[in-house]
Amino acid sequence: MRRVVTRESSDGLLVRPRKQAECFLQEQYRKTREKYELAESLRRTGTVVSADLELSSSLSLGVDTLAGIISFELCEIYAAEADDYRILTSRPEPVSSTGDAEIDPLFEKLRASAYPVIRDDMMTGGRFRSWMGIPLRSNGDFLGGVFLWHSTPGFFQGADLYPVTAIAEILAVAIHNNRHFRRTVSELETDRLTGFLTRTGFERDAERLWRTSSERYSINAIAMMDIDLFKQVNDRYGHIAGDSVLSAFAEAIRANLRHDDLIARYGGEEFVVILPDTNHDVATRIMDRVRSACAACRIESISESITVSIGVAICESARDVRHVIGRADEALYRAKHGGRNRVEVAVLPR
Ligand code: GH3
Ligand code: MG
Ligand code: MG
Repeated sequence: MRRVVTRESSDGLLVRPRKQAECFLQEQYRKTREKYELAESLRRTGTVVSADLELSSSLSLGVDTLAGIISFELCEIYAAEADDYRILTSRPEPVSSTGDAEIDPLFEKLRASAYPVIRDDMMTGGRFRSWMGIPLRSNGDFLGGVFLWHSTPGFFQGADLYPVTAIAEILAVAIHNNRHFRRTVSELETDRLTGFLTRTGFERDAERLWRTSSERYSINAIAMMDIDLFKQVNDRYGHIAGDSVLSAFAEAIRANLRHDDLIARYGGEEFVVILPDTNHDVATRIMDRVRSACAACRIESISESITVSIGVAICESARDVRHVIGRADEALYRAKHGGRNRVEVAVLPR
């Protein structure tokens, strides 16, 4: 048995046990401090991420927090998409020696696993030997995975799992919230009946498109369309038949405009379109094509032909988009007063 040698100090205490006690306390303090710092960084990350719907900043903060508690040579975060996946972020960028062929089976492993997976025998031909994968799940849904890589075999240890999993849980919440946010924004900005932008979606894009079109092209146009006597259609045939007219007209409008034109359902039975790089003659030709395509639509259960009136404003100088829409609206009213089912064009003074 090993003998503990002790001697008395001047104050009469035994030196060796006191040193041992001090070391023990220091070690306990260090461990407590480490736990406190981990808890604090998780709290901070959780608070910031749950208050932020922008995914990129949440991911960046999550990777910062990960880097503070575990070493890695590469961190990648992937999002699951139906049967596939896509990379959301990578640090350092760009993605280095991992490739799809390596990622596929690892991603599928995580999809099937409720727990993190560590592999220290990667024989991938790449520079990494150790891999840790943490599935990102929220309410049981598999949302993606965090991949950590290191070139040293056996680098990641079981003890790393707890803090890394805690961060992954926070990131899963960020991805989950961002998906809901994007879905809500898309519902707000896309009209279900026609598939066009709503007025909210239009207002988001219109100003930027109009500004770039005004800088790039000398002549641009905006058209407003309004279905004629649509209230009578509803009154006579019912709102479901009215909805069929709206979707059929939307199809006719889409089919007769160009890819770069920005179309929106501006109000109930009104549509607006920005036509970049379009002069008087071209705008008149395009919008008359739209008008006759709408008039030619045949809707089941509606015996008469339904028509649309169109007002166009042609603009040869940089004008506020709302001003130009207002001029197109005035032209539309002229088309209504002129007998409907027609196109009226206004050329704005320079
Ligand atoms: P005008 O030729 O002067 O434009 O006459 P109008 O009857 O088309 O104009 P008014 O503004 O009086 O009526 C528009 C109608 O559009 C009233 C409203 O019930 C209908 N409407 C608006 N949104 C929808 C919709 O989503 N579905 C259906 N079925 N009708 C709608
Ligand atoms: Mg109207
Ligand atoms: Mg109308």
